[in-house]
Amino acid sequence: MDESDQHDPSVGDWDPRELEANGQELLARIRRHLETIRQQPVTTDIDAAQLTALLDDPLPERPTPFGEVLDDTWERVVPHLTHWHHPSFHAYFSTSTSGPAILAEALTATFNVNAHVWKSAPAAAAVEGTVLRWMAQMTGYPEDADGVLLNGASLATLYALTAARDGLTDLAVRERGIVGRDLPVLRLYTSDQAHNSVDKAAITLGIGTDNVVRLPVDARDRMDPRALREALRDDVRRGLRPFAVVATVGTTATGAIDPLPEIAAVCREFGVWLHVDAAYGGFWRLVDGIRPEVDHLGLADSVVVNPHKVLFSSLEVTALYCRRKDALANTFRLVPEYLRTTPEDAAVDYMNLSLQLGRQFRALKLWWIIRSFGRSGLSARLTRSAAMADRLRALADGHPDWRVANSSVLPLVCLRYEPVRPEGTADRQPPGDRAAFDDRIDDRLNDRLNEMILAAVARSGRAFLSHAVTSAGYVLRVSIGNIQTRPEDIEQLWEILQKTAEDCHRRLLAEHR
Ligand SMILES: *Cc1c(COP(=O)(O)O)cnc(C)c1O
Repeated sequence: MDESDQHDPSVGDWDPRELEANGQELLARIRRHLETIRQQPVTTDIDAAQLTALLDDPLPERPTPFGEVLDDTWERVVPHLTHWHHPSFHAYFSTSTSGPAILAEALTATFNVNAHVWKSAPAAAAVEGTVLRWMAQMTGYPEDADGVLLNGASLATLYALTAARDGLTDLAVRERGIVGRDLPVLRLYTSDQAHNSVDKAAITLGIGTDNVVRLPVDARDRMDPRALREALRDDVRRGLRPFAVVATVGTTATGAIDPLPEIAAVCREFGVWLHVDAAYGGFWRLVDGIRPEVDHLGLADSVVVNPHKVLFSSLEVTALYCRRKDALANTFRLVPEYLRTTPEDAAVDYMNLSLQLGRQFRALKLWWIIRSFGRSGLSARLTRSAAMADRLRALADGHPDWRVANSSVLPLVCLRYEPVRPEGTADRQPPGDRAAFDDRIDDRLNDRLNEMILAAVARSGRAFLSHAVTSAGYVLRVSIGNIQTRPEDIEQLWEILQKTAEDCHRRLLAEHR
């Protein structure tokens, strides 16, 4: 008798045959979802109270057939997601999953191994080592650096800065703590464009947000190494203790890339740790035209890159690297008796490199993605995204009312619609009936107009953008990177933007008449 014939469904899991049948039904739905994705709105405008009420079911007392659960998911959940994995999703950072990632998630859940110590999941740890080495090669970081997969860049930055702080061995913070003793004021430097995970790390580490020195940036939103040098010199003179600099490769607002060689030189001069937040920018090194701009990650003491942002991986997977050997382990290694194993030279116990103990087999999806597409395939896909961003920039540059408000080489395009400029500054007469509008729209009105465009585009469901406030004012951020996005989608986005902008402009003028 086959084991599954004795299966008691009231206490056991699904029979494996049932799992297969349900899995096939799910895969068919995923297929339909992806095949019709362009007909689906990118986002929903249901309000929070309505949506909460829609899903506010009582605790299910009895089993629900899986078919019903699936139907209900498509009825009540799917329409009210914001579809990040949509070819017209360009908000925040256009992340992407992919076929190999989707399937690897199912297998990861099947084995459900806990990759804390090597012995607890040997092949998972070994695959982690392999994909870390592959991604180090892609990003130009030393392959023999320590590395670990984590669940997000924010935590990676916290861990790197913890190691940097504990690297100040004279202070012995790891052992003696920061409370109730006389310690120097520790200072951390970054640009005013850096991600707020730097501040969160300072909060968590007891550094304090007041000791995060946010340096002003140059006209291209990059950290100014001379300003950094001066800040360090002044602080040292005042008796403060600089301990780390966080530079960014691909800032959140405008995709700026800090000048790493100059910053690294300053860090060496002052003996401070350089952490590079390349969560967004790092993997764009796979694009030949971008590579020279992001080719210096190897200068960092530690670096974070986000395969879940750029490398077609589902959330959540981040890689943290640290070339200062054992620095992460010197902070995070604590081995309780129940996890003590016989040491083997080649074995890495990844729990020793971060705070996290229970760890998903995150490496599997990266192994599948990188093997399925190959380095050349990843590069081709990223290159296509970069080309689409160039195309969008060219379209905006060629239009009198639009301008590109950032100068990043990364496929993050900040657009600003400025239909009316102060007299004398317009390089061309506004076309058509706009010439009849003698209303002067000042910068604040242009801000308002761009805000209206953002909201109207989202309401249309046909695309989804986000915004930033930069030195140019309120700008529309268009991030291009989803694996499904094609050149036609960008042409269509451009049409949507123009039409929406003209409508909003008319509405705004009517309001101000
Ligand atoms: C996305 C991003 C982060 C945060 O990453 P998470 O993985 O969401 O924690 C930090 N810094 C930069 C520059 C980013 O682009």
